[in-house]
Amino acid sequence: MAIRPVYLSHPSSRDHDTGAHPERVERITAIEELLAARDWCGYECVSSPAADRTLIARVHSAAHIERVEAASRAGFVALDEDTVVSPGSYVAALHACGGAVELVRRLVAGGAGQVGFSAHRPPGHHATPTRAMGFCLFNNIAVGARYAIAELGVRRVLILDWDVHHGNGTSDIFWECDQLLFVSVHQSPLYPGSGRPSELGGGRGRGYTVNLPVPAGSGDETFVSLVRDVALPLARCYQPELILVSAGYDAHADDPLAGCTVSDAGYGAMTALVRDLAGELEAPAGFVLEGGYDLDALARCVALTMETLAMPARTRPAGHAGPLGDLGVHPLAAEAHTRLLPLWPDLAAPQRP
Ligand SMILES: [Zn+2]
Repeated sequence: MAIRPVYLSHPSSRDHDTGAHPERVERITAIEELLAARDWCGYECVSSPAADRTLIARVHSAAHIERVEAASRAGFVALDEDTVVSPGSYVAALHACGGAVELVRRLVAGGAGQVGFSAHRPPGHHATPTRAMGFCLFNNIAVGARYAIAELGVRRVLILDWDVHHGNGTSDIFWECDQLLFVSVHQSPLYPGSGRPSELGGGRGRGYTVNLPVPAGSGDETFVSLVRDVALPLARCYQPELILVSAGYDAHADDPLAGCTVSDAGYGAMTALVRDLAGELEAPAGFVLEGGYDLDALARCVALTMETLAMPARTRPAGHAGPLGDLGVHPLAAEAHTRLLPLWPDLAAPQRP
């Protein structure tokens, strides 16, 4: 039986007032105007609860949580050169975490075939255990993933982060964890400067952090190949019970903050790959909004993600990229395979589909 996909959001996302800033209220407005016109792509709309503070404290220090709350209470405060808070920001951030937590709860309850999208501001993947940065206050997806591990008994989580910026916060949070595989495709050099291939995780988490940096100018052929030819084979080795995507749309050709050239079809192809992987591994899959600063491209690509995700998975083996299925193996994917093989001896070599 098909399970209805879920869309999580909350009006408080519009109360996080950043003023004249790329990460602005209009991002959510643009997404939801388009989704409303498309009848929410058939998704069940769910109002995200505020996350319980104890769940956020599993990822962030008490001092950090208190700093965000106090700054928000104080009014308009800059926590770093590009991360600002307003009186509505703390509550918006609680609901942004709550969206990820509720998404995860529903994914795990629904099991194989359940999919969903959590669309909130502020985004989260730059927030570290102890600080806000890069437009992010709390690390929404990390709070959701930690909840899955600590409270729902999920043993292995995959986070695929295709935001154009490295998800340094998520990387920090799960650096020594082998219950979460973090795979990030990002432009380098670019903010925040981390995410080199040599950053592999530490302690028992070594090998469970995988960075796939790409140069400016990279587009569909690079991003789709890295997802299809590196992230998916890694996931087949790891066998996650829950698949999460840090879904940023700022690698889009129209995005003003970065220099990559992913098209709408590229995001559709990457989503189809994740959906088919979820089908193959019989794991639920959820997307959590990160960046994306061209309003039209952002709205279109979120809607395309949701539509693609809701379609039935193609049968195994997953790995064809739909209309972009004839893209070859990118040299960066072949390079990553060679580099990762000592840590993942069963990792399948990329093959032209
Ligand atoms: Zn970004």
